[in-house]
Amino acid sequence: MTEGKIKLRKEDTVQIIAGKDKGKRGKIIKILRDKDRVVVEGANIVKKAMKRKSQQDRGGIIEVEASLHISNVMIVCKKCGPTRIGYKMDGETKQRVCKKCGEAL
Ligand SMILES: [Zn+2]
Repeated sequence: MTEGKIKLRKEDTVQIIAGKDKGKRGKIIKILRDKDRVVVEGANIVKKAMKRKSQQDRGGIIEVEASLHISNVMIVCKKCGPTRIGYKMDGETKQRVCKKCGEAL
């Protein structure tokens, strides 16, 4: 099993620790492994202008989640809040755990 720098997974709940959405929590909806970035639901919203595709299409502004660098998010432990990811061997399988309290993540 190869492991990249990103220990986070899709669906993980993370807290934003820097930038305009600092303190906000959300689920990871996308991981950009080659860029060390993640997209978090409802966080780092940016407005994008859409081009008109046809005469009927009014185009306009849509809001989308922009990616965040992994150093700006922290996984949230159910017990103690934002934390770092540690690993524990559970028999043959490596388990992700909270570095603070040891709770499985
Ligand atoms: Zn914990």
